[in-house]
Amino acid sequence: MNDRTTIVPSPILHYLEELHEQILPLEAGNVASYIPELARANPQWFGIAIVTVDGHVYQVGDSRQPFTIQSVSKPFVYGIALEDWGLDEVMKRVGVEPSGDAFNSISLDPVTGRPLNPMINAGAIATAGMVKGRDVEHRLSRVLEKFSRYLDHPLTVDENVYRSEASTGHRNRAISYMLRNFGMLEDPPEEALDLYFRQCSILVNCRDLALMAATLANNGVNPITGVRALKNENVERLLSIMSTCGTYDFAGNWIYDIGLPAKSGVGGGIMAVLPGQVGIGIFSPRLDANGNSMRGLEACRRLSKDFRLHIFNTAKTRPPVIRSQSSGVQMRSPRVRNSQATALLDAEGAAIQLFELTGDFALVTTEVVISTVLDQVDIADYFVLDVRRVSTIDAAGVRLFAQLCDDLGKVGKFIFFTNADDKFAFTRDLRQRLGDNARHDPFSFTDSGHALEWCENQLLGRSRSGSTRDRREPGGNRAHEPERRGGISAGILPTSLKEQPLLRGMSPAEMQYLFTLTSPREFKAGETILRQGDPGDEIYFIERGEVIVSLLTGRTRRRLAVLSSGMVFGELALVEKNVQRTAGVYADTAVRCHVLSSNLLDAQSGELAGAVRHALLLNLNQLLIQHLRRDHFQIRMLM
Ligand code: GLN
Repeated sequence: MNDRTTIVPSPILHYLEELHEQILPLEAGNVASYIPELARANPQWFGIAIVTVDGHVYQVGDSRQPFTIQSVSKPFVYGIALEDWGLDEVMKRVGVEPSGDAFNSISLDPVTGRPLNPMINAGAIATAGMVKGRDVEHRLSRVLEKFSRYLDHPLTVDENVYRSEASTGHRNRAISYMLRNFGMLEDPPEEALDLYFRQCSILVNCRDLALMAATLANNGVNPITGVRALKNENVERLLSIMSTCGTYDFAGNWIYDIGLPAKSGVGGGIMAVLPGQVGIGIFSPRLDANGNSMRGLEACRRLSKDFRLHIFNTAKTRPPVIRSQSSGVQMRSPRVRNSQATALLDAEGAAIQLFELTGDFALVTTEVVISTVLDQVDIADYFVLDVRRVSTIDAAGVRLFAQLCDDLGKVGKFIFFTNADDKFAFTRDLRQRLGDNARHDPFSFTDSGHALEWCENQLLGRSRSGSTRDRREPGGNRAHEPERRGGISAGILPTSLKEQPLLRGMSPAEMQYLFTLTSPREFKAGETILRQGDPGDEIYFIERGEVIVSLLTGRTRRRLAVLSSGMVFGELALVEKNVQRTAGVYADTAVRCHVLSSNLLDAQSGELAGAVRHALLLNLNQLLIQHLRRDHFQIRMLM
């Protein structure tokens, strides 16, 4: 099913097999016999299972051997009590203080009569008494149903073990009467006791324990079925109790040494949880004096050491959250600028900063981004934070980012989050925090290209107007280059094209000659000019209007470039005959072009034609080199 077994064995499985082999010879300890039926267990049984929060299962040894869950049931029943009654009510009947006593100690708070915690039997019986239901049967069926949410199959009770314990568990019976005496149990106390005996006799295997642990590791959601087994807020409560009280009088040593919230049972099961990562289930019936599985303990210790699982091991590497950072000098919007604008952006582009974020945003990861942004705040006025690769942004992240938006807005700076379309909760919560008096909507632009373009326009605009602050508000996704005056008829070089880099170095006569070979063509807004993949030999000089060059990959169309008056597209046809168009081009506004057929140009003879061809090829070479440089930078940014 979810077992990670393929023809190439997983290195994790390999490791677990080795671990199993090395610990198997450990034969110390004894099978529990105070419940007569438990004594029938084969002392050699030994299974190990791991389930990740992605629902991948790895298991070795006797991982499918059923055994009774015993005390491993205690945290889960505590979870039911919390959900049935709420924290305050549960707290009245059972505390959260480690006892340091044996699991079956008759320890109640001398004043209140309240058991110290739900992991010792006294607390567990009091907890069982809090499971709601009409009668014992109904309560048991609720327990079984709740437990099965942590699993992918229904559960049953081992009747033999149940009867065996019910008829011999006099100490537990004494505890339940003590609890009754202090008002921690309702009448008759045997009912809670009976449910407790039965919950302890639920049959599981160690893969089950690992999956239950993985569900806790996964915030209460079963990683295989996707079913929520426990409310979020109760997960941390269960895990805290397991950390402080999960292994009885060994709990202090356990958390010190192994460092994982865990729960053991006298059936030989142990489950351990590494929050956010993995659940571990181990089964081996030989117990130490504390009632913990000996091999289970050793296996947990080894797993923790070998994989550095200790929850307080802060050396775990933190994945980077800023995938790339670039300024408007290096990273440009798809809008192709004329040489003047390009020079200006080269000089002042540092005022724009683009960050690509990745990973999960909580307190510390958000702080990394914020302090990096603030480091730039003296030189930059526009911040674009691309959140396409971000997985989650928690409440702390939203709060801090909102504050950043506010603070930047107050000093006249702009911040935009782009590619946030699928981050519904983040968008909603941030907008809500900012309220109506936000300086600008940080989600004005769907993608970084449009955001960069707007920021560039602001930069260009403010330097044109000579002011350092241009207070235009960001609007939609369109931004306009100022219209330039164009020429009028075919064959005459429009003024807008005089500075076209492809014509650089040509004499006026050569330029005029070139344009006698072109023919004008007009397109309506929205019309397709070139289709991706189509062959062609034509080069387009834009006299006026705007075109968008876009690439269709799969089903998404990506805006590669925005070209406007004075610019050229299709120029590869100069070197490659019948070139296959590598991208589509369509008119974004009404467009007028002058179209040159490369074949027609080649067919011309004479000195003028030769000089024009030569100049075009030379210029094209230079332009291609420039493109390559830009592309190399962008590819590096993507790596
Ligand atoms: N049913 C067992 C008891 O109460 C559970 C104890 C345990 O697993 N530590 O004795």
